[in-house]
Amino acid sequence: MKASQFFVSTLKEAPADAEVVSHKLMTRAGLIKKLGAGIYTYMPMGLRVIRKVEAIVREEMNRAGAVECTMPVVQPGELWQETGRFEKMGPELLRIRDRHGRDFVVQPTSEEVITDIARQELRSYKQLPRNFYQIQTKFRDERRPRFGLMRGREFTMKDAYSFDRNPEAAKASYQVMAQAYRRIFDRFGLTYRAVAADSGAIGGDLSEEFQVIAATGEDAIVYCPASDYAANMEKAESAPPTGPRPAPAQAQTLTPTPGKATCADVAALLGVPLASTVKSLVLATDTLDEDGNVTASQVWLLLLRGDHDMNEVKVSKLPGLDVGFRFATLAEIQSHFGTEPGYLGPLGLLQPVKVVADREVAVMADWICGANRKDYHITGVNWGRDLPEPDLVADLRNVVAGDPSPDGKGALAIERGIEVGHVFYLGTKYSKAMNATFLAEDGKPAFFEMGCYGIGITRLPAAAIEQNHDERGIIWPDAIAPFTVVICPIGMDRSEAVKAAAGQLYAELLAAGVDVILDDRGERPGAMFADWELIGVPHRVTIGDKGLKDGKVEYQHRRDSAATAVDVSQMADLLR
Ligand code: ATP
Ligand code: MG
Ligand code: MG
Ligand code: MG
Repeated sequence: MKASQFFVSTLKEAPADAEVVSHKLMTRAGLIKKLGAGIYTYMPMGLRVIRKVEAIVREEMNRAGAVECTMPVVQPGELWQETGRFEKMGPELLRIRDRHGRDFVVQPTSEEVITDIARQELRSYKQLPRNFYQIQTKFRDERRPRFGLMRGREFTMKDAYSFDRNPEAAKASYQVMAQAYRRIFDRFGLTYRAVAADSGAIGGDLSEEFQVIAATGEDAIVYCPASDYAANMEKAESAPPTGPRPAPAQAQTLTPTPGKATCADVAALLGVPLASTVKSLVLATDTLDEDGNVTASQVWLLLLRGDHDMNEVKVSKLPGLDVGFRFATLAEIQSHFGTEPGYLGPLGLLQPVKVVADREVAVMADWICGANRKDYHITGVNWGRDLPEPDLVADLRNVVAGDPSPDGKGALAIERGIEVGHVFYLGTKYSKAMNATFLAEDGKPAFFEMGCYGIGITRLPAAAIEQNHDERGIIWPDAIAPFTVVICPIGMDRSEAVKAAAGQLYAELLAAGVDVILDDRGERPGAMFADWELIGVPHRVTIGDKGLKDGKVEYQHRRDSAATAVDVSQMADLLR
């Protein structure tokens, strides 16, 4: 590809609404363009990345025996009525009506349609196992679309669905997928962790999330460095505590009047080390009676003075936020702070929340609330009523760093992750709801045993950037870079020698199947380098008259601090 014929469009400034680095860089590098909240155009440069992600996923899915199809984006509401999800899914499901007044949904996922196909097409056990997948547009009307492609409303997902004759076979199909996912995520060249996830009403262990490790991740994941134990926070467990936990009543030691408390006070109260760069945070306190019943709840705002100075905090009680034993709503918090909190957890003893202040996300990974721990019994919490946002439940802290791991092999550690994939054993949940059967070996109809397997195709590049960037821009792993090599000729319009050398290297690399772009736009070197560093092409070859006199060109990996002179005759071989 020649840059003059492609579309390179970079920006100096990030959009004002971009909170995380991937959103900023994807916009600045011209990979995506916002059309509406959570809705983006994949620009030519960004689409190349997405196509590479898709190609890897497709190859490994095919290798694992899954077969590709494409299901409609717009799906009849009646199918969704059969499983009850038309109502149950709530506002995340986008419902539309056609001119005849018939209901349709825009697919957030496709269990209904694929189960409908299975009940028509898969008649006998002899046709099983079967795994269908698609790489297709999804729409979820997310409560808070944000972070660019990370949490879009329209996005691309690879979703696969397995059909089996019995639970054992279904679990084998699940394992095939779990292994395929490991190959896929290995190939992306990212640091990730497969963690046990909640399997909902079905129970059992057959749900795993694939989390790309990044400090900005929305999920908290728990693992044991000394063993292979890993789970998301929702699923995480620790070995039963050996000693007594700090008494819940300790919250009362926080003076319930406006005034100052030191961070040390708070740390002692929470029983955790203070290691955070949080600028402000919200705490909710409960006053408990002798039986542990909550008699009053208050919400507190702590302002940290300075970025890292944890020694002095200002604690102010927020008037009007004596919310009793229930959760303050996001709107209440928002109107008090004029900012949008990441979430407000249950009013426990001291419940840290994420808040967004000055457009910075304050992630409170190290602040722990005793009240959320399983071994503290808090009376009066009605989870369905008091904590209506299901994705908030996922971040409740079941364990704290340092707790013994359930396998007893070491202490638990906590880190942040971005959910890029999810494998799930479904059992007969959908086949029963939709009366989807096949003829079993005994000649009787039996319900399909199912599994579903998702990968966030368009979330993945964002996760990759969160993990791989520097102050100059993106650093792509080779496997998903928009181009793996860029050739930057200096003064190509003036020098025949440069033009010839650049043209020859370009032709050689193309012939070798290398995904190369030749920057023939005639930009000044500084602007040209800045563009490609922002875009994040991993390998750069600079060709100028000076080096060519000695038969050299300059090679620099995006992570290298300086270029290396390489014989022009050897350059193509090194990049092949
Ligand atoms: P999350 O917890 O982030 O809301 P999810 O658990 O609701 O994700 P799944 O239903 O498991 O998502 O869908 C499979 C995959 O689709 C997820 O692992 C994720 O990578 C991707 N995905 C889900 N929601 C979005 C979104 N709003 N934008 C981009 N990708 C998404
Ligand atoms: Mg979700
Ligand atoms: Mg999730
Ligand atoms: Mg999930």
